[in-house]
Amino acid sequence: MLADYHCIDCTVQKFKQPLAINLDIDENGIGMEIEDSEGNYVSPLFNTDEWYELDKFYVTENPKQILSCGTCHKKIDSYTYQNYNGWANKETWNTNLRTITDRPLYHQVYNLLGNKTTGSRTTGDFAECLKMFLWERWKGRTPEGDSLKNVDWLEIAMVWQEDNKEYLIELDNIYMECLKK
Ligand SMILES: [Zn+2]
Repeated sequence: MLADYHCIDCTVQKFKQPLAINLDIDENGIGMEIEDSEGNYVSPLFNTDEWYELDKFYVTENPKQILSCGTCHKKIDSYTYQNYNGWANKETWNTNLRTITDRPLYHQVYNLLGNKTTGSRTTGDFAECLKMFLWERWKGRTPEGDSLKNVDWLEIAMVWQEDNKEYLIELDNIYMECLKK
């Protein structure tokens, strides 16, 4: 849970304490641990504070985040989520690039999209398959030497499925036809 942030001006104005009764104060004369009327910890924003949201799904939808003062609503700080060419990180970007540019690898990954007994795979199942397949094939590192530990397999799986939508529908149709016989 985020602390309730206030700009320096508002913090000074609302919470300044007489010097005599508070020994533990910062350079603005503000006591270091002050609660507001609702019992929330009140703090001006420090340069080192990481106030922004880092949840991947949230920041992908809302890459630009703004922090406003809890009192005057003036903008205090903003943060823009940095990613790698639109991917979660360099390892994910590189792994995906390999799967689409290395021709033999492309065909193998393409085959993993489907499952002989159920038609197309679910996204989670395909991501898991892709992970096991590439860990085994690359022994834990991309050909460029990046560890596969940080790869976001679901992100790659989602893009692959999106790019091969028609093929997946066809796979499911064939499977449905087989069930009828
Ligand atoms: Zn303010």
